[in-house]
Amino acid sequence: MLTTLTSLRTNWNDLDWREDATCRDLDPDLFFPIGVTGGAVDQIEHAKSFCRACPSLEQCLEFAITTNQEYGVWGGTTEDERRILRREWRAKIRRDRIAS
Ligand code: SF4
Repeated sequence: MLTTLTSLRTNWNDLDWREDATCRDLDPDLFFPIGVTGGAVDQIEHAKSFCRACPSLEQCLEFAITTNQEYGVWGGTTEDERRILRREWRAKIRRDRIAS
């Protein structure tokens, strides 16, 4: 999981982390459940189980937060979980700008 929200990179010219992704050869549909209830709950947990074993988890989550990936499981998080992290990250950026 992210250790700090202050150090998120925003330049994503280098996407090499995708080469090591655990999901690279999996069906992408697994990571894009329809909804968040019913059968989608099991699907989300199944997707997250691959994320937990993924060497690219941190980069994937950073990418999803900084590039506004709205849907699906990225970096072991759902869209709702990322929305919270994104809000915290943006608030931190605003506080840093005000303080400088
Ligand atoms: S963290 Fe999850 S979604 Fe991201 S690359 Fe790894 S397996 Fe795929």
